[in-house]
Amino acid sequence: AKQGGKDNITFFSPEMNAVDAARASVETQLRGALERGELHVVYQPLHGAAGEVQGAEALLRWRSPLLGDVPPAAFIPVAEDTGLIISIGEFVLREACRQLAAWRQAGKAVTCVSVNISPAQFGRDDFVALVQRTLQAHRLSGRDLELELTERMVLRRVEEVARKMSELRALGVRISLDDFGTGNSALNYLLTLPVTTLKVDRVFIQALDQTPGAYRVVQAIVALGHGLGLDVVAEGVETPAQLMQVRELGCERTQGFLLGRPVPPEDLTL
Ligand code: C2E
Ligand code: CA
Ligand code: CA
Ligand code: CA
Repeated sequence: AKQGGKDNITFFSPEMNAVDAARASVETQLRGALERGELHVVYQPLHGAAGEVQGAEALLRWRSPLLGDVPPAAFIPVAEDTGLIISIGEFVLREACRQLAAWRQAGKAVTCVSVNISPAQFGRDDFVALVQRTLQAHRLSGRDLELELTERMVLRRVEEVARKMSELRALGVRISLDDFGTGNSALNYLLTLPVTTLKVDRVFIQALDQTPGAYRVVQAIVALGHGLGLDVVAEGVETPAQLMQVRELGCERTQGFLLGRPVPPEDLTL
């Protein structure tokens, strides 16, 4: 090969190529990962105001024999682009419901499991039916489940989103707006969509220790949520000072490495 040859300069960028190659191998390996049993779900506790465990968020993990542990941030986008998220997302929902039912059966007092839902999943015509079927299969009620959706999703096709959310609410399922405050929060949608929870993005929580004024910003988000009758969850709580502040601000639930890391279900202290 003509290394650094004149012909290559315009069309060949080694960096781009490495990124593309990594993505291509993630895609290749992700196909079939579910069938090969390489995906599993870990759980991170959500604590109530008094410090008790109220529920747990299901977080997907991929252990690839070829690529090692691949973080969700590296493969969820690929799963979304390829449509693999549909079967993978179904797996997470099923797993989380199965696990909650198992905890219940073992006499553990977990009130609720939270599951992240991608826009492509939520957009499926049969999404609400899938949720209903999955709950029924594990003899759970809608109140046992909370779905975490991101803001970017609710900005698209508002009427369809609103209809599906209402149907889910009718089942008792709670709906949380994840990473709240980081999108182009079109706040008017909060007035029309039947969401139940605002999950304040961890950038705001982490700023509490570092950035003057962060306290007021979180305070404003909490006031917004409470003003609309919503629960407010603080995610990404890492320090005692952050915990103290979010409790003082009246967040109903807290989550973060300080309180508990994501762990396999058998390691969750309940
Ligand atoms: P997310 O839904 O915002 O989940 C929270 C992420 O923050 C998790 O990363 C969690 O491990 C991490 N985290 C929790 N507490 C702390 C903390 O105190 N400090 C810091 N620095 N991080 C904390 P994870 O598991 O790597 O997931 C990343 C993202 O991948 C999730 O962000 C979510 O958007 C997506 N994701 C994970 N599982 C699923 C899934 O089953 N379905 C879908 N659609 N997306 C998923
Ligand atoms: Ca989440
Ligand atoms: Ca989040
Ligand atoms: Ca996030």
